[in-house]
Parts: sequence; structure tokens; C-alpha cells
Amino acid sequence: MARYVIVGAGLAGAKAAQTLREEGFDGEVVLIGAEDERPYERPPLSKGYLQGRSEREAIFVHESGWYADHAVELHTGVAATRLDLAERVVALADGTVQPYDRLLLATGATPRRLPGAGLYLRTVADSEAIRERLTTAERVVVIGASWIGLETAAAARQAGRAVTVVEPEPTALHRALGRELGDVFARLHRSKGVDLRFGVSAAEIGENAVLLDTGERLEADLVVVGVGVVPETGLAREAGLDVGRGVLTDAALRTSHPDVHAAGDVAEPFHPLYGRPLRVEHWANALHGGPAAARSMLGMDVTYDLVPYFFTDQYELGMEFSGDVAGHDQVVYRGSVDDLEFIAYWLRGGRVVAGMNVNVWDVVDDIQELIRSGRVIDPTTLPSGRS
Ligand code: FAD
Repeated sequence: MARYVIVGAGLAGAKAAQTLREEGFDGEVVLIGAEDERPYERPPLSKGYLQGRSEREAIFVHESGWYADHAVELHTGVAATRLDLAERVVALADGTVQPYDRLLLATGATPRRLPGAGLYLRTVADSEAIRERLTTAERVVVIGASWIGLETAAAARQAGRAVTVVEPEPTALHRALGRELGDVFARLHRSKGVDLRFGVSAAEIGENAVLLDTGERLEADLVVVGVGVVPETGLAREAGLDVGRGVLTDAALRTSHPDVHAAGDVAEPFHPLYGRPLRVEHWANALHGGPAAARSMLGMDVTYDLVPYFFTDQYELGMEFSGDVAGHDQVVYRGSVDDLEFIAYWLRGGRVVAGMNVNVWDVVDDIQELIRSGRVIDPTTLPSGRS
């Protein structure tokens, strides 16, 4: 009987297991996760769950009985430590060995660490620890005006805390969105009373204070660090698989070894639309990449060409982002930026490469169709999303 092993019990891994069964695979499915929890969704951890607005049970990908019901052998709390491509086995930290016929690497990413103290937000335990601290911490310092940093800042402000955000770039989300759109988020946070410090770095992070490179000392009862993530490529790299910024795959999510696939945050698949490898560390990529990898493992014809998609919720702002802003030479707005109800389009050579809808809904398919089409468009005809 064929034995398919999935390393990494996050969203990509869980969805891959589900798809194997949905596609009628009747061999063994083994899902191995380093965390103690069964697979869960991370976006609520910096939003509703952090704010105590959603139930714990609501974050899980499947009900607890689902794995046994679908004959998915779930191992939690045990990391895979070594991958032997020649022997086709994965060694686990508990000393056991898992043989496989096909393997999926879905090991995700972990927060980039800075020296010193500070809490990080990746797991449900991290979210619960920060939520607990927010009940008493009067002064919160967030290092990094990233998505995680800003969502944490929003949660802390909504809990009534004094919040300072420290960011070396000139504005919020600078690398993700560029100056103009980053400033939209900066203005929103300032309007909510967040003290944003751009162009400064944390030189020392202590339990109760952050020393800036300007010499200023920010007293803090809670410090949260959100400065990006690092893909968990160790197993792949040590096994000799091709690794770039993530585990390199073709557009069918096959790694440089025919028995091994990769999906989710850890993967860097060749993207047919962009004509280059593209690592995406967002929820939708795990949601769709896991199933695509599972189908590819089953020998089905797969071309994984999802337009990168991301969403965020901060205060009353809801936003969806599609595409990749790299190399853009023009940004066009539709709607009212001041009222936080607009669509922004990024163009390169007259073609839409990315779009962001802020408090405007049901437009993602249209934006993605524009990106996919690659056609040169008259910017004055770009839709506003309002009928
Ligand atoms: P992961 O979720 O990282 O899961 C990988 C799993 O593999 C982990 O449980 C890890 O412990 C395990 N693992 C790693 N190494 C091993 C090993 N050697 N052996 C066994 N197990 C291993 N994206 C959005 O688009 N919108 C959002 O609003 C959003 N909000 C987010 C909020 C937070 C707080 C976080 C942390 C992320 C957020 N994301 C968001 C990103 C999104 O959650 C990730 O892109 C997604 O979780 C990636 O899923 P994954 O399955 O690839 O990896």
C-alpha cells in the first residue's frame, strides 16, 4: 500500500491530507507536526483570537475527530529531524522513522528573531501569551510595522493600551506596499493614537524597555517583535534538495527530487504568471498550495499559478491585496483614500501587476483577472468597484 507522508501539520499540510482523501487516495496518509496542537489557522491569532473575540475551537482546520475518521495518522508534538532521500525515510525527534513513497514538505516558517527579549507571534500559544499580557500591560512597544506588527498594535490599542511602533523603514509596510500605500496604514494607526516611530531601529530589546539607535529609551510592559519570518528549509537543505529563498519547486510543486513535493510558506514554486520562482507566505497560498501539491503527488496534471493574495483587518479597515508590486512604475487610485474606501492598482508598463481593495468588496476576481490577462490598459478605465 502506498504511503504518503506530510511533514508539517499546518494549513498546507492539513489541506493536502484532506485532498488526498477527497481524490480517492486509499493508501496510508501520515501527517507529522512539531506543535502540540492539531492543524489550525494562524490569521485569527493576530486579530479576533488575540482580542478574545473568537473561540479557540474555531481556529482549527478540522474537528478533532476528522483525522481518525479519514484514516489520517496524525502525529503532533514531534518534529521531523532528518530526511533521507535515498532510503525514502524521515527520522523523527522521538527516535522513530517514517518510511514514505511520496513526501510533502509543508514545514512553513518561523519568526525572524532579534537579539534580546520580546514576544513573538506565530503559534496559538504565542497569541494566548500576548493576549494574557495585554490584560495588564499599560505600555506596549511593537518592533516592526509589518502586517503582524500592525495587527498586534491595533489589538493593543483596542484593548486601551498605549502603543508605540518602531520601524527602520520610512513608513509602515514599506516593502510590501511602497511609500504611498504604506502611509495610508500609518495615518490610520496615528488616528487611533498609536505612536509610530519610523526611520529608527531597536538597538536593545529588554523585558521592560527598548533602547532605540537614537539613544532614546522606550519604557514598556510588553514588547512584541514582528520582523518577518524565515522559511523552515533545514530538512530540505540538509537532504540536498534545491533551496533558494524557499524549497524550490516547479509549477507542479515538485522539488528537485521526484518523490518530494513542497507547499505553503516553505515552498518557492516557479510561478508561470511571473516567469520566476515566487515564495508567498500567505494563508491563501497554504489553503490552495496544499491541495495542489496533493494532486500533483497523485500524478494528476497540476499547474499551480495562484495570484498571490493576502488580507488584513485593522480597526474598521478591511483590505485584500492581490499580485506582486515588484517593478511597478505607477499607482492608480479609484475611490476615496481619505475615507478608506478605495482600490489601488499597481502598474508596470501599463499592465496591472497588483491591486488592493480597501473596504470595497467582491472585486478580487476582477482585479486578479486584470493581473492574469497581462493586457495594457488605459488607467482611466480601471474599475472603482462601485456599480
Ligand atoms: P505553517 O502555518 O507555518 O505550518 C507549518 C507547520 O509545520 C508548523 O506547525 C510547524 O511547527 C511545523 N513544522 C515545521 N518544521 C517541522 C518539522 N521539522 N517537523 C514537523 N513539523 C514541522 N496570511 C494572510 O494571508 N492573511 C492574514 O491575515 C494572515 N495573518 C497571520 C497572522 C499570524 C499571527 C501569522 C503567524 C500568520 C498570518 N498569515 C496571514 C500567514 C499565514 O498564516 C501563513 O502563510 C500560513 O500559516 C502558512 O501555512 P503553512 O501550512 O505553509 O505553514
